[in-house]
Amino acid sequence: MSVIRTGERPLKIAIVGSGPAGCFTARELLRSKTAVQITVLERLPVPYGLVRFGVAPDHPHTRRVTRVFDEVFRDERVNLRTGVTLGEDCSLERLRADFDVVVLATGAGEPVKLEIPGSELPQALTAMQVAGWFNGHPDFRAPGLTLDMESIAIVGNGNVALDIARMFGRSAEELSKTDISTEALSVLRNSRIRDIHIVGRGTLERSSFGERELREVCELFNCDPAEGRDSGTNALSGRTLHFRFLESPVRFTGDTLVLRKNRLAERAGDPVVEGTEEESSMNCGLLISSIGFEAAPIPGVPFNDERRVVPAVDHRVAPGVYAVGWVKTGAKGLIGHSKRDAASAVQAILTDL
Ligand SMILES: Cc1cc2nc3c(=O)[nH]c(=O)nc-3n(C[C@H](O)[C@H](O)[C@H](O)COP(=O)(O)OP(=O)(O)OC[C@H]3O[C@@H](n4cnc5c(N)ncnc54)[C@H](O)[C@@H]3O)c2cc1C
Repeated sequence: MSVIRTGERPLKIAIVGSGPAGCFTARELLRSKTAVQITVLERLPVPYGLVRFGVAPDHPHTRRVTRVFDEVFRDERVNLRTGVTLGEDCSLERLRADFDVVVLATGAGEPVKLEIPGSELPQALTAMQVAGWFNGHPDFRAPGLTLDMESIAIVGNGNVALDIARMFGRSAEELSKTDISTEALSVLRNSRIRDIHIVGRGTLERSSFGERELREVCELFNCDPAEGRDSGTNALSGRTLHFRFLESPVRFTGDTLVLRKNRLAERAGDPVVEGTEEESSMNCGLLISSIGFEAAPIPGVPFNDERRVVPAVDHRVAPGVYAVGWVKTGAKGLIGHSKRDAASAVQAILTDL
């Protein structure tokens, strides 16, 4: 593969994925002194990745970053092609033949599976399905979904679990002021949910809740697990949030969730969470697992099966092929982190010219 330097013709770059990692990479390339012609390939009909389909609809300030991405797509050196899936509509080999540089920015939006009996039931959903449903994702329609249960459980102690609890715990009036899809709003309007349980295997201190995100939820529901107030009610909706720490799901029947008690123990001087024999059950008509995300392998693209990422050294996957964002790091980090990652990816690309 030949890489052409500035002056002869613009560097032809394909960026696969139009989430923050792909968009920030394009922006950084446009700002460089190198003449570039960028094609962004995106599987979905619309761009922005998880900024569009993951970020909770009641956080419009977070989505404002799409204004920056719009500027990128308005640039005449950038061509956005939606509805194109790498591994199906085109191969990495084809892209390497057609472009000087290929940047993989395909993210890590596959939910980690909750492996318990009952997790295959229709009343068991993943956080990605729910976030996608709130946001009108074309793959996550929920025809026939009714929320006629009184109690639901969200398994996981990260910010996505908090997002989902907020959305299910808000009143119809609060929700109608958000960017929620019309379909999800009409289902949530008729919701009979009274109790929302967030279940975590460890303690509050060991959770992945962000400080700001936890504060927002505590204000909404008038609770504070840091002060021992593990439950509280949103006065506008009458819905109660319960934080349940040191519990793990064992099995789900569609209306009952069985939980195992955990305890904090010490192993080689380090605190660890370990299971006990004690079980309890709770009413639960909807189980939502929010225990992480990972990249999915793409045919023809190198993949580290154990780490569930595209393997890269300083962004370099193969000559002329680079990886950036969650597909390289795994599903950790916020939108702002993609910006920094994109800057270092572009540095690697330009160094190799
Ligand atoms: C539910 C959820 C909520 C979140 N909320 C926040 C928040 O409030 N604030 C915050 O800062 N961060 C939030 N994050 C994290 C943030 O979304 C990520 O840090 C960021 O989106 C990662 O960017 P990315 O570009 O690597 O991946 P993505 O955003 O996933 O973008 C990848 C893109 O690649 C496309 N793609 C995938 N495979 C292919 C293929 N084979 N061919 C073509 N295109 C493909 C996808 O459709 C997608 O558009 C959230 C994450 C999740 C899962």
